Order: sequence, then structure tokens, then C-alpha cells
Amino acid sequence: MVATEGPTIRERAALMLGRAAGTAARRFGRGGGTALPGLVAGALAPSLLERLAQQSGQGVVTVTGTNGKTTTTHLIASILRAHGVDPLTNPSGSNLERGLVVAYVEAAEPGGRIADAASRVGVFEVDEAVLARLFPRLRPRVAVFLNLFRDQLDRYGEVDSVGEGWGGMLASADPGCTLVLNADDPSIAQLAAETRAQILTFGIDDREVRLAQADHASDARFCRCGGRFAYEAIFMGHVGIWACTSCGERRPNPRVSARRIELSAEGSRVEVSIDGALVTLEIPMAGLYSVYNALAAAAAAHALGVPVTTIARAIADAGPAFGRQERFEVDGRSVRVLLAKNPAGMNELLRALVAGSRDSQPVHLLAMLNDGIQDGQDVSWIYDADIEVLAGRDVTVTCSGDRADDFALRWHLAGIDPAAVIPDTEAALDAALGRTPRGARLDVVATYTAMIDVREALARRAGVGSYWEVAR
Ligand SMILES: [Zn+2]
Repeated sequence: MVATEGPTIRERAALMLGRAAGTAARRFGRGGGTALPGLVAGALAPSLLERLAQQSGQGVVTVTGTNGKTTTTHLIASILRAHGVDPLTNPSGSNLERGLVVAYVEAAEPGGRIADAASRVGVFEVDEAVLARLFPRLRPRVAVFLNLFRDQLDRYGEVDSVGEGWGGMLASADPGCTLVLNADDPSIAQLAAETRAQILTFGIDDREVRLAQADHASDARFCRCGGRFAYEAIFMGHVGIWACTSCGERRPNPRVSARRIELSAEGSRVEVSIDGALVTLEIPMAGLYSVYNALAAAAAAHALGVPVTTIARAIADAGPAFGRQERFEVDGRSVRVLLAKNPAGMNELLRALVAGSRDSQPVHLLAMLNDGIQDGQDVSWIYDADIEVLAGRDVTVTCSGDRADDFALRWHLAGIDPAAVIPDTEAALDAALGRTPRGARLDVVATYTAMIDVREALARRAGVGSYWEVAR
């Protein structure tokens, strides 16, 4: 009964006040108040989240996992737009309940309804730690699970406890819901056993891109039977072609499968089979982690009935998500921003920097480490990152951020002596640009709050919009 009615007076008031809070935040503060309107509106009317889900006439897609949520959400939204559907989506990185409510606050008309709601799909990135709570309220039509790596240990504790928290949620999932699962991450693939929902798997079948050996960040994982995993091939961390040495469960054959992958420092070309239909994806983002994000997005779009050709065209045309391989032209240099949140993510982007390039190709880096709450206050994780992968290459690195000295020591221990250590963002950016020849690319590797800082500085210098103007 309630489900079919329009928004209540209380909900409409909450939306109005949320909108006012957003306007005020944009006027007075930096950061654009991406969370504030949701915080205000959600506190006044906790039912807004359900109302948002109900108003998305074509259902809701959730995207969760440690790494790749923002980019995958962005790709799914881009594919849907190419398919003629206007998605409702949360601002990048704003992936707690309040962030989802922001999507509603911003899309709602004064009466609290969303224009063309019947034809719209909600596409929301959801933090892995809050998914179990939000899942029954959003009742997603498609739920994407990317991976589970160690991340911000001081916030969540063990990664395994996050995965375990999903058990009850999946057991009660609607049989009409499709779970899009990474076949190569055993902690994700094994979720299939816990649900009656439909399963659509994605993964990599090209063994040429496997790692020669397990990298530092590979977390020891156990099968749900308690046994150990053995790998025929590892693609990153604990992600690869796995089998349990105890119960014999094996990685499922992915229905969305990357058969052949050509990596370069700019992007990837991937031959993909989507339920038997062959298509070439030109992915304009570097790194094998970007290939996984594109496969996940393609699988989600496939589950929503988008034709394979539309998927391929939309991925090729997709610009970067906020702060994820975004590029800026500054003083005749191309500057690319790479977000590093944890060892697994850092390893993948370091690998992406040198993918397909010759050893002699110079790499210009600005490496920024902060220790704010959103960065992870314990910075010792940098010792689990495989910075050594760049040793022996022609690398010029400037270290910056609140913990520039700690980062510089880590680079030094990897055999790469930083050219400069400059905590201040603007000064470090000046120095790094000065060491990058005109026409060359400067790559900025940064933790979350450092990324926000440097992105603001770059946007200003390049004459691009501010955080809150583009953070969609
Ligand atoms: Zn087992």
C-alpha cells in the first residue's frame, strides 16, 4: 500500500531541507557537501532510501567491493545512457546511505517525485560494510560484487568479517535478482552458494596476463570449507584461477570472460565473450584492475538486457570517473590522477604505469600519502605494496602529502630515491611538473584525501570544474 503512494509530507520536507543544505554547503565550504544533503534529509525522513528505490521504475543496481566501485558504477551509468536510459546515481565515493539519499535529493522535483521515474534505473555504489543493511531496503535487481581486499583495517577489521556479514542478506535475496560475481576472487565467487538469486560470473581467461609470482599484498584466504586455495594462475592479490585443495571446489567458468588482453599504459584492448557473443572492448583506462571493472560493468549491463554492441561502444567512449585516471592538461604536460587506497590497488596501478612499455621509457611520478580517516590512519600498508616493481626503471618521483617522509622512505627502500620530498600539495605539484618534460605525462599516485587536494589544484590550473560540479 505505502509502496505505491507518493512521497509523504515529511519526506517532501526532508528533500527540501536536504536541498537547502546542499546549496548552503556549496556556497560556504569546499567539498561541495556531497554528503550533507543526504545526512540532513535522511535524518528527517529515514524512509527516503526505500522511496528512492521504489521510484527507480526499472530497478536498482548496486556495486560493491573493496576496489573499483566508483569506476564500475560510472561505467554502468555510461552504458545505460548509451542505451537511452537516464540513470539515477550517487556522487562518486559517497557510498553510505546518506550518499544514496543525495541522489534522490538532487533528482526530486518539488513534489518529491522524480521525473520519468518509471523509465529510470538506480545505479549506486555501496560501501561493502553497509551493504548488508541497505540490500533488503534497496532490493536490487542486479547486485555487482567486485572483490574483497584488505582496506583501511582500522575501520573494519578483518576483510573476512565483511564477507561473512553478507551471508544472511544473500540468503534472503529475491530469486529474480541477479548477482554479478567475480569468478576469480574466491571470497566473491563462493557467495553463489549462499543464495537462490540468479548468478552471472565474470573473469579473466587469458593466462598471459598472470603474475610470475604471488605479490606482497596477496592475502591468505580460506575456502568456506576451511581448506586452502591453490592457484593455476594469479592475476592480482588472491584473484586468479583458483581451486580448493580440500573440498575441490573450483573457480566457475565465467559467463563474461576476457579471452585475450592487450595492456598498455594508456588502456586495454580485450576480446570478451559475453554468454558466447564475442566482442572487443577498447577500455580507455590503464591496468588489469580496469579490465575487471569493465567486465563487471559489461556483465551488469548484460543482465539488464543491454545489447553487446552498445556495451562495447559505451565503454570505449566512457570518460574517467572522478579522480580515477582523470587527466588534466597543465603547462603542456598531461597529468593523470590515480587513486591508491590499499596495497592491492597500489600494486595494480604501479603495474599499469609500466604495462606494455619498454624498460627505458621514463616514468614521472608525484606520490602523495595522507593519513586522514578516509585514507586509513595507519600508513604501514605502503610496506605491503610492491613498489619494487618500478625498481631498475627510469623513474623520477616527488613525494608529497602529510606523510611525505614515510612515503619517501618506502620508495628509498624499494631502490628508488625520491627527487624531492615536499609535503605541500601546490609546491610538490610545481616541482613534479618541473621535472616532467613538456609533452610528457606526469602520473599522480595519491591516497583519497590527497587525491581530492591535488585534483582541486589541477582542476584550477587546467580550468576545469570544481569537485562538486563534476563529482557525479
Ligand atoms: Zn574448500
